[in-house]
This record gives sequence, structure tokens and C-alpha cells, in this order.
Amino acid sequence: MPAADRATAVLTVDLAAIVGNFRILQRRFSGREVAISLKADAYGVGAAPVGAALWRAGARRFFVATLDEGIALRRSLPSASIAVLHGLTSGPVAEFLHYDLLPVHNSIAEIDAWLAEAPGRAAGLHLDTGMARLGMPADEVAALASSGRLRGLPLAFVMSHLGCSDEPENPLNAQQRDRFVEACRALAVPDGVPRSLVASSGVFLDPSFHLDIARPGAALYGIAPTAGRPNPMRPAIRLSGKILQLRYVDSDSTVGYGATHRMTRAGRVATIGAGYADGVLRALGNRGHVLVDGRRAPVVGRISMDLLTIDVTDLPEPAVRPGSSVDLIGPGNEIDAVAAAAGTIGYELLTRLGPRLSRHYLADATSAEGSAA
Ligand SMILES: *Cc1c(COP(=O)(O)O)cnc(C)c1O
Repeated sequence: MPAADRATAVLTVDLAAIVGNFRILQRRFSGREVAISLKADAYGVGAAPVGAALWRAGARRFFVATLDEGIALRRSLPSASIAVLHGLTSGPVAEFLHYDLLPVHNSIAEIDAWLAEAPGRAAGLHLDTGMARLGMPADEVAALASSGRLRGLPLAFVMSHLGCSDEPENPLNAQQRDRFVEACRALAVPDGVPRSLVASSGVFLDPSFHLDIARPGAALYGIAPTAGRPNPMRPAIRLSGKILQLRYVDSDSTVGYGATHRMTRAGRVATIGAGYADGVLRALGNRGHVLVDGRRAPVVGRISMDLLTIDVTDLPEPAVRPGSSVDLIGPGNEIDAVAAAAGTIGYELLTRLGPRLSRHYLADATSAEGSAA
């Protein structure tokens, strides 16, 4: 029988919606090119199918975090430009060359290793303009500028990363942009070398931030780019589970591990075949809700590894039967809202989607095949 019939929890990825979100970002972005951040297996969604769909939609440049992610992505995207954000700290120069991956250099030491082993080969450069995370800080940029090393290094791009771009009013944004533009000037980065500053949220800042290349990830999956503003992105992810059992319970019954929920009236509890092993964060116990036939049903009791329980007392009986599908994430129960109920962000929710889920990919307009794994 098809996987959808036997699986209890199903992740449906709408590739057409992801491509639609890519188009929204392209329309919004005033620079040259919208590249794609595809790290952590496309935020847990699946780098191979997502990457292939975006390639068909015209994306040509991709960013991953590690060498191994780059090697894996190279298999599905033989002709794409793939840049590795962790650079040479994530693996040997020989493998970057073998798989035609661009390291992003985060230090002078990495530049020197590259110049020694891969002379004349292009690489990216990451400048730290205020996150104190990855890239070269100001003093190292100054040392690099005066060293003359860049004369021997063809630059594929120069990048920096904004720490607060989901808060348009945060003054750190303009400070980082100005530092980045100034650092590029100090390094005498040639005009033809693209500069990249913004990810998803930065695409929604004013065009002075855009520069040449954007590197969005999260917005492709429908995560809202700007805190406290209406979300312009389309939902692309559905996580659904099946009702395994239905219980009629008395007032005063308790539900689940630790008996953390006590019924205040007689009612019905439905047990769903999805738990924290599937990515339903345990923090959603007694907090989240799911949608049954478009109606909200609160999560009651703790989330367990393979199961969760919802109160369906107020729902009409016919919609609530063993075998009925309920939405844990989906239209009306968006990633951001579910994440907020769990005290986290959509990024973490997505990257925790579990390996046991049955994954289905709804075809984008340009792909020949239907659902592919
Ligand atoms: C993760 C990441 C991105 C993508 O960020 P989103 O907010 O998901 O669009 C871009 N650039 C760097 C350096 C990153 O680490």
C-alpha cells in the first residue's frame, strides 16, 4: 500500500509554493540575483528535491553550511554554483576542488591555505560586520587589505550577514551595511565582484541593503521575514498526523505522562500518531493546537515520543474518527505560530522534523514527475 496510507505522520512539501516564494523574493529584491541558502538539508525540508525545483525555476547559486552538505547537493545539482559557508574548516581543499565547491573564507589563514593548494581558483569571502560569529572582523580585514593577498585570489563574491534584519527599525542594520560597504572599499573589491548582505528578512529592508546577491532560506518555506508584520510568503509545508484512537473520558480524568492535564468535563480525547520523534516539539505539551477539518483542537497532556493527545470534545463527531488526518502545521496553523507556542522560531521547528516522517513532494509546475521522494 502507498506510504501515505501506512504512515501515521506525513510531511507534505509544496514545491510549487516554494518556487512561488522564490518568485516573491525575486520581485522584491532590487539586486542582481536571488541565490538560495540550502543548509541543514534545506532546513530539514529536503535539499535534493527543493534544490532541483529551484534550479528548474532558474536559481543558479546555492549556499550550504558544510563541505559534506555541498558534496551531497552536488549530486543533484551538477552545474550549480555551490558555496560552503564554513569554508575550509569543514574539510580539505582537495575535496572542494574535486566537487567544484566554493569555500567561503572566514580568515586569512584559510585564504593562505587556499592560495597554496588551489592557486588561481575562485572563492568567496565573509566579512564580520557586527555579529561576532563567522567571517573576518575589522582588524583582520585591515590586515588583509594591506597584505596584497587578494591580488592572487579571484573573488566569486564578498558577503556579510545581518544580525537583526527581521527588525527593520534596529540601528544595527544600517551600521552593518555601512561597515560592509566600507570594508569592500578598503579591500578594493573590484566592481564586477558581487556583494551579498541580505538573507530572507533583508530582502524586505529598503533597497540600500540589497546590493548584488540575496541568500534567502527561511522565507522559501513560508516563514515570516519581518517580526510583527503581515507575512507575504505562501505556506509551503504541511505536517499531518492520523487519529489512531478516540477515547470518551470522564470529568476528572487525567491525560498522558505526568497526568499534567485534567479534564474539567466529560469529553473526548483523540490520540494522534506523531510525537517529538517526528519533530512535534515537546514544549507544545498543553500549549499547541492542531486543526481537524479546519477546526482547532487543543493539545492536552504532554507530547510523547510517538503520540500526542488532543481534546476534541467540541468538534462534531463525523470529522473525528480513527484514521482522520489532522494538521499539526499547515494553512491556518502556520510554522511561525506553532513555533511561538513552543517558545522557539520556525527555523528550529523545521530543522527538527524527524527522519521517520513520510515525505511527499507536490510537484512544481515545471517538473515532469508527480510526487517524488
Ligand atoms: C542561514 C543563513 C542565511 C539564510 O538565512 P534566512 O534567514 O533563512 O534567509 C543566509 N546567510 C547566512 C550566512 C546564513 O547563515
